[in-house]
Amino acid sequence: MNCPRCQSELIVVEYHAVELDYCPECEGLWFDSGEMALVATQMSGSQCDLLPQERAETKETRLKCPECHKAMDKRLLGATDPVIADVCRLCDGLWLDHGELEQVVAGMHPSGETDTPIIGYLRNTFRPGLEEKSSRTPGQTSGESSN
Ligand SMILES: [Zn+2]
Ligand SMILES: [Zn+2]
Repeated sequence: MNCPRCQSELIVVEYHAVELDYCPECEGLWFDSGEMALVATQMSGSQCDLLPQERAETKETRLKCPECHKAMDKRLLGATDPVIADVCRLCDGLWLDHGELEQVVAGMHPSGETDTPIIGYLRNTFRPGLEEKSSRTPGQTSGESSN
């Protein structure tokens, strides 16, 4: 499956038993039908119905669904500070661009806390180059086999 934004190959990542498709290039995320609600529940710590709302008025280019390649709808997502998500009517999947997940999560946390586990998880997993100097997977002592 390829990124609807930059056409890079999406990577499947598993986060708390939810499979997400992540673009390592533009850091967008694809949620299959129902996955957004699962992730939102994980992040907010309680049952959470985070569903796309009315169609958004925007001049943004419509993206094509990575699964069925139909043009997706632009819909508002989130309560406090909604983002424009791309939603496929056929697959019921949902695409969030880089930063949009943070914005939705920030709206769910009135304290303004955006450093959620999932975002840190994704960054640490897929952006190792950025933190290569500071820490490189401790405990990886290969090559020393002295019995
Ligand atoms: Zn991309
Ligand atoms: Zn689709």
